[in-house]
Amino acid sequence: MRAQEQTDHPEGLFDLEVTIRELHQLSRNLWWSWNPDAREIFAELSPLVWDASRHNAVAVLGAVSEAELKSRLMDRDFAARTREVLVAFNRYLTRERTWCSTYAAPFLDNPVAYFCAEFALHESLPIYCGGLGVLAGDHAKSASDLGVPFVGITLFYRQGYFEQLISRNGWQEEHYPSLDRNNLPLEPVLDSQGNPLLLWIEFSQSRIWFRAWRLRVGRAAIYLLDTELPQNDSAYRGLTSRVYGGDMTTRIGQEMVMGIGGVRLLQALGITPAVYHLNEGHSAFLALELLRRRLDSGSDLEEAETRVRDRCVFTTHTPVAAGHDRFSPELMEYAFAGYRSLLGMEAQQFLAYGRTRPEDSKEYFCMTVLALKMSRGANGVSQLHGQVSREMWKDLLNSPTYRGPSIGHITNGVHVLGWMSRPARRFWKRHLGPEWETRLMYPDLWKVISDEEAISDEEIWALRYHLRRELIEFVRKHVPDTFPASGTERARAFETMLSPDALTIGFARRFATYKRAPLIFDDLTRMAEMVNDTERPIQLIFAGKAHPQDVRGKEFIQRILDICKRSEFLGKVVFLENYDMNVARRVISGADLWLNTPRRPLEASGTSGQKVSVHGGLNLSVLDGWWREGYDGSNGWAIGGDEHPADEAAQDQADLESLYGTLSRNIVPLFFERDSRGIPRGWIAKIRRAMQTLIPQYNTDRMVTEYVTRYYLRGK
Ligand SMILES: *Cc1c(COP(=O)(O)O)cnc(C)c1O
Repeated sequence: MRAQEQTDHPEGLFDLEVTIRELHQLSRNLWWSWNPDAREIFAELSPLVWDASRHNAVAVLGAVSEAELKSRLMDRDFAARTREVLVAFNRYLTRERTWCSTYAAPFLDNPVAYFCAEFALHESLPIYCGGLGVLAGDHAKSASDLGVPFVGITLFYRQGYFEQLISRNGWQEEHYPSLDRNNLPLEPVLDSQGNPLLLWIEFSQSRIWFRAWRLRVGRAAIYLLDTELPQNDSAYRGLTSRVYGGDMTTRIGQEMVMGIGGVRLLQALGITPAVYHLNEGHSAFLALELLRRRLDSGSDLEEAETRVRDRCVFTTHTPVAAGHDRFSPELMEYAFAGYRSLLGMEAQQFLAYGRTRPEDSKEYFCMTVLALKMSRGANGVSQLHGQVSREMWKDLLNSPTYRGPSIGHITNGVHVLGWMSRPARRFWKRHLGPEWETRLMYPDLWKVISDEEAISDEEIWALRYHLRRELIEFVRKHVPDTFPASGTERARAFETMLSPDALTIGFARRFATYKRAPLIFDDLTRMAEMVNDTERPIQLIFAGKAHPQDVRGKEFIQRILDICKRSEFLGKVVFLENYDMNVARRVISGADLWLNTPRRPLEASGTSGQKVSVHGGLNLSVLDGWWREGYDGSNGWAIGGDEHPADEAAQDQADLESLYGTLSRNIVPLFFERDSRGIPRGWIAKIRRAMQTLIPQYNTDRMVTEYVTRYYLRGK
C-alpha cells in the first residue's frame, strides 16, 4: 500500500504529511469549535471517540492511528473538505484586515490581558461554572474574530467543575473527574532550556510555585496557571484543582496565583499588555503586583498608583453585596505575610486598598473595592446593573479620598457563531450574503429578516420544526439514565416523551436560588392544565447545576425532578442531567420559548436568552439584566413591570400572576393560531422582530468593540 502510494501519488503523499501536521495544529486551536465544517471533520474521523470525549478534537486524533488517518485522507471528498477547512483556518489566523486594524489600529501593538477565574470555551474543557465563564470565553472568541490582540489569564482546574449525577431520590451529587491534559489542547509554557517555565508567588511565609499552559483560541491565547508541582508543599499542590474550590484560604491562594502570578507570567513571556481587564474582582490582586513593580522601579506611591490605574479596567458582575469576595484582616495578614514587605507598607495602609472606610480596622478586605480603587474604568454588565452597582458602592464612590472611576455599563453579549447550531448556520448562510460571519453586529445585515419575499414564513417555520425535533431526539437519548419513573409507566412515557408539535419551553442555567427555577410550578393545577391541553399543549425542558454547597439550589432540582415524575407531567416536563455547554447548545436552539425568572434586580445581565434569537426562539423573562433593555414591547414577552417590590413573597406572587397570564392569554394562543397551511403567522412575525432587534445588539462582537473603544483605548 505504502509503496503504491509513493509511486502513484508522490506529491499527494507529501501533501498528506502536511495535511496531517496541520490537522494536529487545528485540533490544538479551539477555532475549530466555532467552525462547523471543522467540527465535522473530527466527528467523522471517529464518531465514537468524538461522543465519548465530549467532542474533543485532540482526543479524536489521539485515538486514530497515523495509518488510519492516511487512509481516510485517501478519500477524495474527505481530503478535499479537510483541506478547505485548513485553508480557512490559515486564512483566519493570518488575515490582516480586521475590525481592529480598521477602527482601532492603535490597539494592534499590545494586547489586552484579560483575567478571569473561569473560561467556558468548550464542553471538553470544563474549567467554568456558569455565565461568567461563558462571557469570558465568548469575549476571547470575538476578540479573535475582530483581530483584537488578546491574552487571557486563568487557572488550570485539573478536576474541572463537577459532573452532576442525580441520585434515585432526585438529589444532586457531584463527581470530580481528573482532566487528562494530554487529551487537551494545552501546550506547556517552557523556559529557554525547554523545561517547564517555573514561577512563584510569595504566600504567607513561603512560596507557591506554578507553571502555565497555553491554550489557543483562534488568534487569542489563554494561559492556565497550575500549582500541581513537586516543588510545592503538598498543601499547595492541589490549590488550583477546582473551580472556586475549598475554603477561604484556598480561595485567597487561588486569587493570589491568578492575580500576582498572572502578571509575573506575562512579564516572563515578554508580553506588555496595553490594558489589564479585571473580569470580576477575583483577579484584583494583579493591581498590587503592578503597584509593586512601579514602586520597585523608583516611583513614589502616588505616581505608582496613577500609573497602575491607567492600565486597569474592571467589570463587576455581582448585584448583591454578599456575593463579592471579602477576606478577613487576619487572613489577609496571614496570606500576605511575605508579600506585604515587598510593598514596604504597614498593615493598615495595605489593608486600606480593600476597604471602603480605611480607618475601620475590622473591615474586611474586599476585592471589588481594590479593583475599583485601582482602575481607570469600571462597568456593570447591563444598564440596570450599572445603576444597581453605583448605588451599592456609593459610599466608596462618594468618599473624598476615592480616585477610581464611576461605574458605567456595557451590556453582555454572546459569541453568535459559537452558539449557532448547524441548521441555523445553513439557514443564515443562505440568506445573509457573503462575509456575513464578520458583519454580525451590523443591523443592516439583519434587515433581510423583515423581507417576507426573501425569507418566507414557511422557511422559518421549517427551521423551528427541525431544531425542536433535534432537541427532542437529544432529550430522548439523554434522559433515560436518570428518568425517575419505572416499569410500564416508564416505557409509556418514553414512547410519548415530548412532542414535536408542542410549544417547547426551555430553562437551562445554574440553579442559583435567585433564578427561581421552580417558580412556574407554584400552581401545579394550572400547569397541569396547560401541559395536558390536547389542542394547545406546552412542554418544558430544564437543565442546570446547583453549587455543591447550595442546599436550596439542590432542593430546587429535586422539586423539579419530583414534578417530572408525577403522572400528569410525565414525559412533558423533563430535566436533563449534567448541564454544560453541549446541553446548553441543544436546549437554546430547540426551545420555542426561553423562560427566565430571576428575582429582579439580581440577574446582572444573563446571556442564555441571547443565544436563542438566531435560532428563532423567543424570550419570556423578568425585565432584569439584558432583557430590560432588549425587550421593546414586540420582540418577546415580559414578566412583571419595570420595578421590583422590596418584599420577596409579593415579588414572587406578582411575577407568577404575570407569568401565567401572559403565557395563557398571549403566548399559547399566538403559537397555536395557524392558517390553512398550518403556519403560525403571528408567532413568526414575532420571531422576525426578535431576530432583527436582538441579534445585532446582544452579541460579543458589539460588546468587545465597545470595550475597545470606550475602555481599552481610552487615553491612547
Ligand atoms: C449561557 C450559559 C450560561 C448563562 O446562562 P444565564 O441564563 O445567563 O445564567 C450558563 N452556563 C452555560 C453552560 C451556558 O451556556
